[in-house]
Amino acid sequence: MKHNFSAGPCILPREVIERAASAVLDFNESGLSLIEISHRSKDFVAVMDKAQSLALKLLGLENKGYKALFLQGGASLQFAMVPMNLFQRSAAYLDTGTWSTKAIEEAKRMGTTHVMVATSADQGYRYIPEGFDLPQGVDYVHYTSNNTIYGTQMARFPKTDAPLVCDMSSDIFSRQLDFEQFDLIYAGAQKNMGPAGATLVVVKESILKKEKGSLPAMLDYQAHIKGESMYNTPSVFAVYVSMLTLEWLDRQGGIAQIEPKNREKGRVMYEAIDKSELFEGYAHAKDRSLMNATFNLNRPELTDRFNELLREAGIEGLAGHRSVGGYRASMYNALPLSSVQALTEVMGYLEQKG
Ligand SMILES: *Cc1c(COP(=O)(O)O)cnc(C)c1O
Repeated sequence: MKHNFSAGPCILPREVIERAASAVLDFNESGLSLIEISHRSKDFVAVMDKAQSLALKLLGLENKGYKALFLQGGASLQFAMVPMNLFQRSAAYLDTGTWSTKAIEEAKRMGTTHVMVATSADQGYRYIPEGFDLPQGVDYVHYTSNNTIYGTQMARFPKTDAPLVCDMSSDIFSRQLDFEQFDLIYAGAQKNMGPAGATLVVVKESILKKEKGSLPAMLDYQAHIKGESMYNTPSVFAVYVSMLTLEWLDRQGGIAQIEPKNREKGRVMYEAIDKSELFEGYAHAKDRSLMNATFNLNRPELTDRFNELLREAGIEGLAGHRSVGGYRASMYNALPLSSVQALTEVMGYLEQKG
């Protein structure tokens, strides 16, 4: 058995993979594959409806004026679609890492002013800035809830009168939050929800009042809402597997039941890092992420030995992001506690035996 710590695409529940594999061969006993039928067929429309309604249900946003959309182009296209749809004069962004920086770059292309309210670039994005002033009267405020690369996570989301936008690509459905505080949430599916190829956008319709007739339809949230995520052909496989994962989460009792499991995994992981002389955490302890634990090995001469032990234990995907190096243990919803224990055992063994 492999222990899959990949950052994204990443581990999905085994039963989801099995059901997806069987649907590729024969979808709903139709004698046809999921990927060779019309996206407008009754069976696939039901999949899209279910995926959208489950996303809203699990976030506690049903009947509250929100729409769930499954779009393409990844979270990276949302970096551009958000300002295209919401920007008029100015916006405020908190810079907590590479993904926020990319979102800011896209916003700047729209001529946005007041772009960055605070940044943790001064310390290699090891922490989440606090106590910053948010300008009043901006079109929206943008946060990245979990910084996948640096292993930091926001605990609080300072609010102004402006709509709140959040990139939750790597921690959506992992912890309970008051999701109603957000007006637009987006997430690439491949971190905690499904395969690459679909992006979930949950948007409060009332923030889209603005006449945006000049936007290309594919970049216009209104066009996708009108088309019910089928303005054009959706990524049927990614949407189907996302639906299966959301059903899996729902059967577990939703976010309320998965969060304590994620907290326990994080506790075991960080305890191992903190009690070790060999390993050192990258992120400041107060801002550590429950999804991505980043750490370094203090004695580089043990790197080969550590990698060998990891291989022997079947531990995969532990390399840090290419921009920061070191190690990163991604502990998304589908990763069992036993995988974290397998990793911390290897770390303990290296410490004792070298
Ligand atoms: C991975 C990631 C992205 C980029 O996602 P794509 O779907 O590859 O465009 C954006 N934001 C965060 C927080 C991420 O983890």
